[in-house]
Amino acid sequence: MSELLYLKDDGVNAVSDRFQTRFAQVKANFFSRDPDLWPVFREPGFAALNAFRARALAPAERLSAWPDGPARLAHLREGAPVPATMQMPGEPMEELLFAAALSKDWENPSSVENVITMSADPAIYGAQMGILANPNLVYSEYAGVAEELERKVVRQIAMLAGYDPQRATGIFTQGGTFCNLYGYLLGIRKSLPDAKHKGLGHYQDYRIINSQGGHYSNITNLSLLGVDIENKTIRIQVGENNDIDLDDLERTLTACFALKHVVPTIMLTMGTTDTFGVDRVKPVFDLRNRLCEQFEVPVKPHIHVDAAIGWSMIFFLGYDFAANPLSINPATLAGIERNVARFAELKYADSFTVDFQKWGYVPYTSSLVMIRERDDLKAMENDPENFSYFERDIQGQTHLQSTIECSRGASGLFGAYAALNYLGVEGYRIVLAHCLQNANYFRYRLSQLGNVKLVAQENQGPSVGFKLYNPEWVSDPDAEFAFELARSPDPAYKARLARNTQWHRQQFTSRGKVGLYTNWVEAVARSEYDARGKYSYIAGEKAVFMNPACSREQIDAFIAHIRG
Ligand SMILES: *Cc1c(COP(=O)(O)O)cnc(C)c1O
Repeated sequence: MSELLYLKDDGVNAVSDRFQTRFAQVKANFFSRDPDLWPVFREPGFAALNAFRARALAPAERLSAWPDGPARLAHLREGAPVPATMQMPGEPMEELLFAAALSKDWENPSSVENVITMSADPAIYGAQMGILANPNLVYSEYAGVAEELERKVVRQIAMLAGYDPQRATGIFTQGGTFCNLYGYLLGIRKSLPDAKHKGLGHYQDYRIINSQGGHYSNITNLSLLGVDIENKTIRIQVGENNDIDLDDLERTLTACFALKHVVPTIMLTMGTTDTFGVDRVKPVFDLRNRLCEQFEVPVKPHIHVDAAIGWSMIFFLGYDFAANPLSINPATLAGIERNVARFAELKYADSFTVDFQKWGYVPYTSSLVMIRERDDLKAMENDPENFSYFERDIQGQTHLQSTIECSRGASGLFGAYAALNYLGVEGYRIVLAHCLQNANYFRYRLSQLGNVKLVAQENQGPSVGFKLYNPEWVSDPDAEFAFELARSPDPAYKARLARNTQWHRQQFTSRGKVGLYTNWVEAVARSEYDARGKYSYIAGEKAVFMNPACSREQIDAFIAHIRG
């Protein structure tokens, strides 16, 4: 299979000189904390923080490397009251600097624990600009021109994704979880309008549809909305690569409509957190339209795509894969091309989640829910009498009546604008390709060890999940994994799975953090479905390559270390 090209040999994973040069430029300009390029880093506190973190100390060494580190930590843990007297400006506030410097150092080249990464220099600069100006996006008068900046970013993302920028709209909100909440709520408000006043309990015959591969926010949001999760939520099965089973979706949606159940929202995922499963959207869009016509459903289910991490792939829509001007290596080029074919379908979503704070290199929090038709927000409007606080004739000009929150900070927006417009499509392509080249190189090196099974290996995202087996027990990791996937009530099955997991876990905890700070996950994979459609989780290890500072040096060190 062409997408598994990365397993072929060293050659397909080699980094071209041309790419290396381009990446070095991007890194020096946008990920270096260089005060000559970004003078904000010259501020003494920021400079001290950056100098400490640039040492890239191992997690266990950091506290003692800070002057009086353990004493400072003890001090932080004290139950001291707010000081009774003022402290004058100019007097350093050591504990503030200590807490910042010793918070998790995502710019450490070994940091690959999760879908979290260092921010880009321009994004930090932009976010600080937003903090300094401090507009409030809740309402025109409190936002001023910042409101136009929000519209501009929304149009830019609309154009990248293939939405009509004149019809689309979007809202910067509090994290990807809230973006998904908007996705659910848009569907509920359109399909079940009386729920606004009477609650969802007012309706008996509705079903929310999401994916078993979805992020946990796909469930916790439902609880927040008062949805009966046990009886009125249907989770669609996923295949080997964690994308939804379109046949299961078709059966489910047909059954719902045949029974006259309202389906407010279908929640899909493009880029699952641990395995980068990418749902197809066009077939879901076609299926929805076809069935709505067949069953004469008046309000179509709203299709929301949780693209919290996956959205970054839209920078590659329109990349010339034949000419490959960035000289991305063949292994990664094939993977990106596979992703692009799917992300070209994002435009069929009614709304989607964008986390700039993840693979967009913007500081927290910076998330945007994109909505294809701005008119959809009308269904979200709350009654004007709730907003007597604001002047009536200005109210209609903003999303004020349709947002979930009141105050909306603008630092995420300013950070996103700066990152998008300093890096440009080109800068993003280069840094994203660097990460994916690392991910593929890591997969390749793992595959060479002989006792490793790569999970969801067709998926070409930044996350690499894997299982390590004891070579004395397991000669064929693929066969052993296949055994584990075939869920069985047999005690021998459970014992063998537990023994394998325990061995890997023991390796993971005893080897210490060397090269890459990988992470342990309880659900790196899921078993096949048994006859009753039940499945179980399989634990394993993962590394996520979003960190521009991470290079082959760290990957090689990790591999050498686990080889022992
Ligand atoms: C991280 C993530 C979320 C949640 O986003 P937050 O910004 O952390 O609230 C939702 N869905 C997916 C797929 C994610 O990876």
